[in-house]
Amino acid sequence: MGACLSPPDDSDVSGQPTSAPIFFHPYVKGSQIMMNESHSIASRVATFHDGLVFSNRPVEPYEKVTLKISKEDGKWHGGLRVGFTWEDPSLLEPKELPPFACPNLVRRGKTRACVLPDEYCEEGTIVSYWVDTQGCVSCSINGEPEGFLLFDGVLVTSPLWAVVDIYGRTKAVQLLDPSSLPINNDIHSPPLLTHNDQIERTGDECAVCFGYKANTMMLPCSHANFCTCCSLKIFKTSGRCPLCRQKVKKILHISVLAEREGLEDQSDNAKNGQPLR
Ligand SMILES: [Zn+2]
Ligand SMILES: [Zn+2]
Repeated sequence: MGACLSPPDDSDVSGQPTSAPIFFHPYVKGSQIMMNESHSIASRVATFHDGLVFSNRPVEPYEKVTLKISKEDGKWHGGLRVGFTWEDPSLLEPKELPPFACPNLVRRGKTRACVLPDEYCEEGTIVSYWVDTQGCVSCSINGEPEGFLLFDGVLVTSPLWAVVDIYGRTKAVQLLDPSSLPINNDIHSPPLLTHNDQIERTGDECAVCFGYKANTMMLPCSHANFCTCCSLKIFKTSGRCPLCRQKVKKILHISVLAEREGLEDQSDNAKNGQPLR
């Protein structure tokens, strides 16, 4: 059955401050949503829309919202949408919730969300996503420590609640406690992360804005000189690494790099990441 929600521990494997587990908001939810008693599993009864759910409490920067895709409905196209809102869901009238996160809820101006790539939406996949202190949202699958940038523009000066749209192909999701996931940095380590000679100036400030830490890596060139927001802007605009002008195929979020620099590269069989979409 995989990882389940458990009472908070005094320590957390992921290094995050321990806080109460996240559950779904018990009554502010789309009209098609049914939940289990503990509000950790949400499923959509019918159609492909009206599947919005929210977290029951605000989520901290870098705190992972971890979901298992527990049921698929193959007759629809496109699946799960994830995001954050700075509109307290407790103040929303459930009957007035829009049918979709994207674009309806996003258009209200206090939510950012996006659709996940199809390969992240298969039944059994574990999706984690989080927002950083600049309002950029990254996501990773199946407990892998590296994330991929999804979108930016989240208002981090406000409390933020997770928004999950159980849309289309995604029929049910289960909230998991991220600290109970197996640490998955052996066979799945992208080899680039362990070559110190390819990591320039990591830990320094971003070479574009000089305001934030450089914490991403452009692939395939491996330049790791940019913060999450600047990387995302580069990807959306020129699409080329400012240092070497190579076309950027994907962007890795490397907040975990510092802890892993000491690891020897034994990952000949390591797989490459998924492309950013
Ligand atoms: Zn920057
Ligand atoms: Zn480059």
